Amino acid sequence: MKNENIERILLEVEKPSRYVGGEINSIKKDINENTIRFVMGFPDVYEVGMSHLGSHILYNLINTVEDVACERAYAPWIDMEAKMREHSIPLYGLESGDPLSKFDFVGFTLQYEMSYTNILNMLELSNIPLRWSERGEGDPLVVAGGPCAYNPEPLANIVDFFVIGEGEEVNLEILDIYREMKKGEYTREAYLKRIAQVEGIYVPKFYEAEYNEDGTLKSFEPISEEFPKTVTKRIVEDLDSAYFPDRFVVPYIESVHDRAMVEIFRGCTRGCRFCQAGTIYRPIRERSVETIMNHSRTLLQNTGYDEVSLASLSTSDYSDIEGLVSRMMDEYKDKKIALSLPSLRLDKFPIEMIEEIQKVRKTGLTFAPEAGSQRLRDVINKGIQESDLIESTRNAFRRGWSTVKLYFMIGLPTETDEDVMGIKELAYKVKDEFFAIPREERKGNLKVTASTSCFVPKPFTPYQWFPQDTVEEFDRKTLMLRKSIRDSKVNYNSHDSKLSFLEAVIARGDRKIGEVLIEAHKRGCRFDGWSEHFNYEKWMESFESLGIDPHFYANRERDYEELFPWDFINTGVTKEYLIKENEKSKMAELTKDCRLGCTGCGVNNTFTGGVC
Ligand code: SF4
Repeated sequence: MKNENIERILLEVEKPSRYVGGEINSIKKDINENTIRFVMGFPDVYEVGMSHLGSHILYNLINTVEDVACERAYAPWIDMEAKMREHSIPLYGLESGDPLSKFDFVGFTLQYEMSYTNILNMLELSNIPLRWSERGEGDPLVVAGGPCAYNPEPLANIVDFFVIGEGEEVNLEILDIYREMKKGEYTREAYLKRIAQVEGIYVPKFYEAEYNEDGTLKSFEPISEEFPKTVTKRIVEDLDSAYFPDRFVVPYIESVHDRAMVEIFRGCTRGCRFCQAGTIYRPIRERSVETIMNHSRTLLQNTGYDEVSLASLSTSDYSDIEGLVSRMMDEYKDKKIALSLPSLRLDKFPIEMIEEIQKVRKTGLTFAPEAGSQRLRDVINKGIQESDLIESTRNAFRRGWSTVKLYFMIGLPTETDEDVMGIKELAYKVKDEFFAIPREERKGNLKVTASTSCFVPKPFTPYQWFPQDTVEEFDRKTLMLRKSIRDSKVNYNSHDSKLSFLEAVIARGDRKIGEVLIEAHKRGCRFDGWSEHFNYEKWMESFESLGIDPHFYANRERDYEELFPWDFINTGVTKEYLIKENEKSKMAELTKDCRLGCTGCGVNNTFTGGVC
């Protein structure tokens, strides 16, 4: 590490291992004048970033290129930030200790809107100007990708260019173009012009937004014909042969998920109407059982982990889940390697399989019915029945489980107080199932936890036109539940409504929101997703000082004719399909899983890979 001051201050901060690098499997390359330097910024603490599968994939992939060195940087926790400011230590890449300002590219992954102020903080700590318009030839190019980049506009003043969609191929393309241009007449402008032609790349400086008097978008156009009118997301057509790392960096300290992760498929065919992931990751693409077995074997060998997690949006929907799990169990049971299957759907809940898996390590059960009543579950196209939940929990209790977590949302379209109270009723029904088992056969001490989050309407979902509930309305519903759930066996947790309100503002934000982010950052907002640091008043002051009404973004119903800031992005799923789904939702009409037959979302007209 180049700056001696760093070593000194590490003794004074919490968890110094967050800031030292040098972990097993981290990649430290020799840097020379021809090396292209890329740093992957994760806008949250180290432990969160180290649990993010996409970052492991891209870090290793970029480092496979001989003349490119990819490093990592995470948001320093408050204590470290204060020390860095006090000693004028800029934010640095963990592998070399060099300041971020020395890199060619500073990349950020956008997983969550409430981490955007951390991006600004990280740029400021690196002495990199916050707006692209203030950066010059010597400054790094700031690039961002990830699920939130599907509405890039709130960061359009800040980020030089966005990668829309899956990064595996396109990241290598932008590096190739950079290498080529660096040999000749390279300028920032020329490079950006060149990559703006690459499919999946959006360069905000080449697009102009005009507004109507009421604040809605009037037009959104490229500034000249050389730039595409729409930006189509990138996908990896053949996931089975796509790059997957054979090792992950293993942290010295505990991270959120200390385990090997293998992605078994991308996409989801269920079509829950609130779910953005269900749209943007279409079409579905799977890895074969053989490939998954190979990846997990090498990962376990190279990391020393004793757990492997099969990652996807809806793991029980993998077409040969039983075959895969039994292969894994055969191989791992005696070695005491645990298997975890996150994201299991209730209507396809393989209890026998879970029981088998949990012989190695037993955990509680988590289910996401999302809504308390059948009517509302049909509205959102969740497609699961109350009986699915009751049967799954009954089976689980009979097999010795006693801890169940249930996840719900409040503020869903068409929700009534009766639907909200359905959450309590469902939690109580689950409790009753436990006590229906004869006393001598019950095992453990029952604990049912019902958690509600506040619904945030997202772009590219059938609810992108929908007004979010106000903070007051969320709080009223939450209080209603809190008052009525009075049972020592049933706990109730709720999410901060004010945080969800801001998330909704940014999620459907336009370019003007970028200035609010900068203002909130100036006022000291960061780690907004962490309740101890979230400061709602500072956010409200920021909106007020700029004369921007946050309710316009969160609580306003849009009509179908309105032009949205993200409409220029083509995810493959058509707006007509989303409108149709929104209308069906109002009538609580279900749309079937598209593995059972095409539902006409449009994705197969744009992309050839995958199956519908
Ligand atoms: S099952 Fe529903 S909520 Fe889960 S990823 Fe698929 S569409 Fe989204």
